[in-house]
Amino acid sequence: MTMTPSEIIFVVARFGIVGLCLVTLVIVTRDARPGTAPGAPQRPLLGFAVALLLAASLLTLNDIHAALSPGEQMPTYDGAWLWLLFDAGVPLLMLQALRLMRQRDEALATLALASVTDALTELPNRRGFANAAAAALQACQRRGEGAAVVMFDLDRFKSINDGHGHAAGDAVLRGVAAVLRRHLRASDVVGRLGGEEFVALCSGMSVAQAAALAERVRESIRDEVPHPAGDGGMVTTSAGVAAVGAPGLEAALIAADRALYAAKESGRDRVLTAAAPA
Ligand code: GH3
Ligand code: MG
Ligand code: MG
Repeated sequence: MTMTPSEIIFVVARFGIVGLCLVTLVIVTRDARPGTAPGAPQRPLLGFAVALLLAASLLTLNDIHAALSPGEQMPTYDGAWLWLLFDAGVPLLMLQALRLMRQRDEALATLALASVTDALTELPNRRGFANAAAAALQACQRRGEGAAVVMFDLDRFKSINDGHGHAAGDAVLRGVAAVLRRHLRASDVVGRLGGEEFVALCSGMSVAQAAALAERVRESIRDEVPHPAGDGGMVTTSAGVAAVGAPGLEAALIAADRALYAAKESGRDRVLTAAAPA
């Protein structure tokens, strides 16, 4: 059987469409695998895409088979070329939709991370701390362990801003965050609650152990975080410690805040522990 050039182009184009459909099918099924596609709602859509691509491949193969059968007239009239464009449009549109979905997923993941992260120190912010602390406390409960919280507040921080500028204050905050990161274990949760206030949830620690840790952090901040005044100044911190008991995290944070307030009242640059709940 001899074919005219336009018949050859027709068959080759159909094979090209089948190839495109199969490549798209592989990409779609890879994206539909659990774990690679964040956001379950798009999975039914991906299932529909798989069905559509399979149908497009089979119909195109059927077209090729029919066109190559002896005695058949190849449908190379103008309308058939238009159908060919439609058939090619199925995988091409699908690839474009997948690209947009991926971009959307990446943008959502970036936004989700930004919504729980403090931009200055890159520590979890108040919301990020609350989320991570809730998960850490559940893990503590499963292991039958207790936990303690520490609230840190830099002393007379406003005077650093007022005396040396906001940028110098920011550098101090970043230095404090670095010290906190270094002292806390992977199972602990640390966050910046706002301004110059930081918080740590110490998993599996008694109040005494958490107070000892807070003391080490206080000393490290004083010894290692450079004061913008140079040798003439030290960054000092007050801290309050409380156990996380049955009433939960919020109650523990209030108790630690009270102890922190008492540390400020009694002269700053110290760690105080909340009285055990009656
Ligand atoms: P105290 O010892 O009683 O805690 O006094 P303080 O000066 O540390 O506390 P105060 O609450 O009066 O001041 C906190 C200051 O923290 C005021 C605010 O300008 C500053 N601050 C809050 N957020 C930021 C920030 O992101 N960067 C900088 N540089 N300063 C901040
Ligand atoms: Mg404060
Ligand atoms: Mg302060």
